[in-house]
Amino acid sequence: MEPDKHLQKVELASDVYAICIQHALITEKQEVMGLLLGEIDEEECISKISACMILHRSDKQPDRVEISPEQLCGASAYAEELASSLRKPIRVIGWYHSHPHITVWPSHVDIKTQANYQMMDPLFVGLIFSVYNSDPQTKSNQVQLTCFQAKVNGDQLERREVPLFIQNAPLAPYNLKQIVDLPKILIQEELEIHSNNDGETNDPLVKLHNDAVKTVAVANIVSNVSIPILEGLTARLSATQCRIKELQAIKEKLLAELKE
Ligand SMILES: [Zn+2]
Repeated sequence: MEPDKHLQKVELASDVYAICIQHALITEKQEVMGLLLGEIDEEECISKISACMILHRSDKQPDRVEISPEQLCGASAYAEELASSLRKPIRVIGWYHSHPHITVWPSHVDIKTQANYQMMDPLFVGLIFSVYNSDPQTKSNQVQLTCFQAKVNGDQLERREVPLFIQNAPLAPYNLKQIVDLPKILIQEELEIHSNNDGETNDPLVKLHNDAVKTVAVANIVSNVSIPILEGLTARLSATQCRIKELQAIKEKLLAELKE
């Protein structure tokens, strides 16, 4: 790690923020994670996050979040695709993960993982979303977000908090695709778990039971994830259509005034 080079500020596009929260709220049992893509202002040390990539969990253990080299390669390829279509120097610039039922602060493992990323890229950033962690006094469900880097203090690693700003941004088509792909990733994860179980028995009743459990799991994803996403996007579409109508009316009024 270069000791003196660290991030001054992170700007997070609002649609990426929405995707990360939606992803974090998917499960209260395991941590979920993904990679953050965008541009870096090397002079000012500002990170501008404009896209993300939801990662598929190969290991469904609680408190186990790891990015495989294949996933990192896949994210780099996706960043290159975005960079050439948008003509912007987009690359992988950070990672995020969720902390269901625990505080937002990075664990020692998180800080160590972050320090490893910073060895490759000193301006790499970590975001953590704490979800389903209720406030003991109000009993309300809290969602918290922290933005951090690792720093060396003597022979210890510590976290350095980085100021985070959420930037208003329209829903970009490539971010819309991430939201739409979320149920597909979850269904694929479920099917993988069940295909591992299938090989263990020849008993037709056990197989029937396993199939029923698989069907329920997939149906749950459809009702708890796909349908709310569809309803959210439909509401967003009708709000946008209303806005278009309003703007067209204003345009016609202005054109009429110009003719007078
Ligand atoms: Zn963590």
